[in-house]
Amino acid sequence: MASCTACGFGWSWVLSDGRLKCRRCGHRWRRRSLWDASRLDSRTKTELVQRFVWGVPVYRQRFSLAASRPARERFYRLIRFAMAQAEQLREPFEGSLECDETTFGGARKGKRGWGAAGKVIVFGIIKRNGLVKAEPIPAHDRASIMQVIQAHSREGSLYYTDQWQAYATLRLRGDHVVIRKEKGRPVGRDHINGIEGFWSYAKNWLYPYRGVPKKFFHLYLGETCYRFNHRDEDLKPLIIKLLKATAFEEIDINPVQVS
Ligand SMILES: [Zn+2]
Repeated sequence: MASCTACGFGWSWVLSDGRLKCRRCGHRWRRRSLWDASRLDSRTKTELVQRFVWGVPVYRQRFSLAASRPARERFYRLIRFAMAQAEQLREPFEGSLECDETTFGGARKGKRGWGAAGKVIVFGIIKRNGLVKAEPIPAHDRASIMQVIQAHSREGSLYYTDQWQAYATLRLRGDHVVIRKEKGRPVGRDHINGIEGFWSYAKNWLYPYRGVPKKFFHLYLGETCYRFNHRDEDLKPLIIKLLKATAFEEIDINPVQVS
């Protein structure tokens, strides 16, 4: 909850017009949106959203713009926060779901980037022909994947997974179809091509960002999910709307500890 902007008290009411009212001093204030949290002018922000949508990293923006590089980087981070939060709040999936885990990074030598310190393990769920959710997990074990499955899917779903033992308890939660593979190819008609398609989408998309700090990886992954889930829409107006609708004080995304 946001602290009072007059006295700093941490407890407030939400008024019907969306403003907050301090429970101690009665001061009223309007929550700051992510859009307003950047002091850049609207034209610059709109231009930056466009460049973000096109996938132009800040370090490739050599041409002049009325914003310093740190201000542009901060604005990009606000966009990623908004996207990651929107994806985290997306309601749980139900129906036919594919689950799978993969790793990002780890192959690069040297000290730069999240890949340098090791791999990031990511767990993903995709609705057949539809939306995806993916999150970094702290370990490659049953507890970690079940936590994501419980948070992001409804009981009674039909789960398609590979043969990994960690999925064994899924049959207690819903129906479970195990995809057997021989020499990397599924046996029979069932498959988990959907989630595998998302992995290659994400790895391609994140490739130019291989130098990002590991502590921000979850934001980049959230961005990738958002882009994938809105792949048939015009992202620019969507992102501007999202930034204006998201309160700066309510951003609360816990990065998963990656070892
Ligand atoms: Zn107050």
